[in-house]
Amino acid sequence: MPKMEPFTETDLIYELVEAVIDLAKRFKEEKGRIPVFMEVCGSHTMALTKTGIKARLRDYIHLISGPGCPVCVTDQKSIDAMIQLSEEPNTILCTFGDMMRVPGSKSTLMEEKTSGKDIRVIYSPLDSIKIAEENPEKEVVFLGIGFETTIPILALTIRQAERKNIKNYSIWMTTKLIEPVLSTMLQSGEVKVDGFLLPGHVAVVTGKQSYHFLVEKFAISGVITGFEPIELLSGIYKLIQLHLEKKVDVLNEYTHVVSDKGNIVAQKLIEEYLETDDVEWRGIGVIHESGLVLKGQYAQYDAKRKFNIPLGEPTQTNCRCGEVVQGLIAPEACRFFNNGCTPTQPLGPCMVSSEGTCAAHYQFMKEV
Ligand code: SF4
Repeated sequence: MPKMEPFTETDLIYELVEAVIDLAKRFKEEKGRIPVFMEVCGSHTMALTKTGIKARLRDYIHLISGPGCPVCVTDQKSIDAMIQLSEEPNTILCTFGDMMRVPGSKSTLMEEKTSGKDIRVIYSPLDSIKIAEENPEKEVVFLGIGFETTIPILALTIRQAERKNIKNYSIWMTTKLIEPVLSTMLQSGEVKVDGFLLPGHVAVVTGKQSYHFLVEKFAISGVITGFEPIELLSGIYKLIQLHLEKKVDVLNEYTHVVSDKGNIVAQKLIEEYLETDDVEWRGIGVIHESGLVLKGQYAQYDAKRKFNIPLGEPTQTNCRCGEVVQGLIAPEACRFFNNGCTPTQPLGPCMVSSEGTCAAHYQFMKEV
């Protein structure tokens, strides 16, 4: 009897790729075009390119990137303000590593650090509280970026500062919410997609229910997925299947961590400290109630209220990240892509971030 080889995860991925392609062919036969899906999350973009899935599927499915990379959508004014703040005496700025090289109007936080400013890279917002405790004679400011995934930790950080009665600490809030940006993009009519791969980690906090607006307001399907190749391919498969069955729905393919209602404890924490506000998205503009800011009673922890930093208009650049994060153009359509803009010399945040679409295409799609 011939020896049977075990069926590996790689085998399953290859099988799934072929199954997705078969289904995509049926979609094309029925509709006369290939399907267009948006992966909302920057981590999905990176996973789809890194694993070669995007390149393998590109003749059958148009996968476009969305606005879910927090570094890419952080407005240039906030970078400029942080650079100005770094010039204040006795100030320590804290931020995530990816923000260090994002170009502001005149320089980057990395260049300011090199020139002697006290700017520190941290891995958790809670680390910035420790820095504030260790440096009571200095003002510690954390640049708080992120989506619903990160926002509960920012609220927790404020709770810690409050409970420990730390006075020399504040956050420059520039958080973003997924629903308002997707609604704005869809209402504009410029972004035309057949469905969304929805970020699993956002849904851990907000729950499957938070994506029902796609069906109710826009009659578009979405599938919540994780970040492994099998999860992503299953999500794409389900999106095509919904179309072929003429159904519109939001499916949860990340059930081991995402529930219908989400993380109630995290939601309550957010509600206690934060409220929605109109915020600016880089390259997109101000979107109504698309971010969370500190409530008035926590103003002492709000760096925007604590420091009088004028928010001037940033220097205009020709970087097209605003279009890239809305799926309006592929990175290759930007004239600077690999022609003056590379991960080592980025002109815009989409080439800096480890979740940026331009960086993903440069590293994994460039020579395909
Ligand atoms: Fe911006 Fe560079 Fe991407 Fe062009 S290639 S959109 S300049 S980050």
